[in-house]
Order: sequence, then structure tokens, then C-alpha cells
Amino acid sequence: ATTRPPALETRGLKRRFGAFLATDDVNLTVAPGARHALIGPNGAGKTTLVNLLTGVLSPSEGRILLSGEDITHTAPYRRVGKGIARTFQINRLFMNFTPLEAATLAVIERSGRSHLLKSLGAEHRAIDQAAALLDSLGLASVMGERTATLPYGKQRLLEIALALASRPKVLLLDEPAAGVPEEERHEVLAIVAALPADVTVLLIEHDMDLVFSFADRISVLVAGAIYAEGTVAEIARDPKVKAVYLGE
Ligand code: ADP
Repeated sequence: ATTRPPALETRGLKRRFGAFLATDDVNLTVAPGARHALIGPNGAGKTTLVNLLTGVLSPSEGRILLSGEDITHTAPYRRVGKGIARTFQINRLFMNFTPLEAATLAVIERSGRSHLLKSLGAEHRAIDQAAALLDSLGLASVMGERTATLPYGKQRLLEIALALASRPKVLLLDEPAAGVPEEERHEVLAIVAALPADVTVLLIEHDMDLVFSFADRISVLVAGAIYAEGTVAEIARDPKVKAVYLGE
């Protein structure tokens, strides 16, 4: 038996909007190194939960623990430093950069801007690390091109690279294949499947094929509450989960 705390844990997490309970007593446990998926129909509360985990929203009640440390009231940027990161849509500025430029900035951001470019060696190291990161996500061949000109699938992979630049312990992957054309999907799926094993991944996803091929555990959120939780096999044959999805 291991004494390692869960990589990520919520205890009795609640979030109200007025009288409406968008997050209803959520107890989520994500084991270190897990490939954990969070699924649920539209309006189930997935986005709200992600915003609570990253600190964009504060919970009305309950606690959030990262590797056993209480981060319930930790500011969003400090949570990144403590090891929780999420993917973000590439903004307009980064669209005009090359992947190498964007990833280098992300690596420098992690290393702390205070000793930014104190030496030329540090600058070169940041560029080398950014290039290696891009290579690991299949982006080596396009790292010198303007991001806006890249296929959509490659842009989504760059989003993952930028999130990984902070060297997170827990990566929140928000619908990595959303909007990616059919012919590019296999590339995104393969790279998501090949993410470093030491990074714990919580995948928030609509696409059942992706969830079933990727996850080792699944939590199903319905009306703000955990409705079912189990292994992929357990969830795949759970009649009440099927009912929710067929009824959507
Ligand atoms: P999902 O991401 O699973 O589609 P959301 O977390 O976006 O679900 O929304 C869950 C519920 O909470 C929805 O009914 C939504 O209308 C409500 N909700 C989300 N954000 C707010 C808000 N800021 N104010 C009021 N209601 C909200």
C-alpha cells in the first residue's frame, strides 16, 4: 500500500450561482499518474469544476487538495507554480508567434522572469527546452512557422505544449480534440496517449471514443454531482450512465 496522497482531490466541493447549485458536493479523487476522465452531458458542471480547480472560481463550500496540500484559497497563478495546469486556447498574440517563440516564452515564464536572461546560456537553455518539448508533441517540423498558419490539430497540440511548459504534476486537458478535423484527430489522440507517465491527467471530454481509449478511470458528472465513478469497463456497462447519454 502506498501512502502517497492523491494527486488531486476535492472534498465536499460546492459552488452556488444564486440559489442554483452548479457543483453539488463533489468528492473527486485522482490518483498520482492517473489517466482520469471527467465526462457528463452539457450543463453537467464540467466547466464550473475546472474553474474551481484552477482557482478562476471560488467554491461556496468544500476543499481542494493538490498532492495533499490545501489549495482551496490559493490564487490561480500560484496554483500553476504548485503544479496544476490547464490547456488554454492560443490567444491572438501567440497566433502571430512561431511555436518555438511561444514555447520559449512559456518555459521562461516557468523559470521565473526575475532571472530572465541573466545570461545568454539561460536563454539558449530555454530555447533548447522549448524545442525538446515541441518535438515530444510532434511539432518539431513546424516550430518555425507562424502558429496561425498551422493546421488546427497542430494548434491544439501547441496548447498542450504550452501547458506542459510549466512542468505540471496535474494537467487538466479540456477537450483536446474538439473542433479538430477527422483527418487530424488520430495525431492528437496518439500524442495525448503518449503524454509523460509522471504527469497526472484529468481529461474533460465529450468524445466517448477518446475517453474510452485514453482513461483508466472515469467520473460521470450529472447536474453538478458525481453520478457514477469507476474503471472504463465499469462505466461502459453501467446502465444508468447509458441512460443519461442516450437521453441527451
Ligand atoms: P458543462 O461545462 O458541463 O456544460 P457548466 O459548468 O458550464 O457545465 O454549467 C453548469 C450549470 O451551471 C449550467 O446550468 C449553467 O447554466 C450554470 N452556470 C455556469 N456558470 C454560471 C454562472 N456564472 N452563473 C449562473 N449559472 C451558471
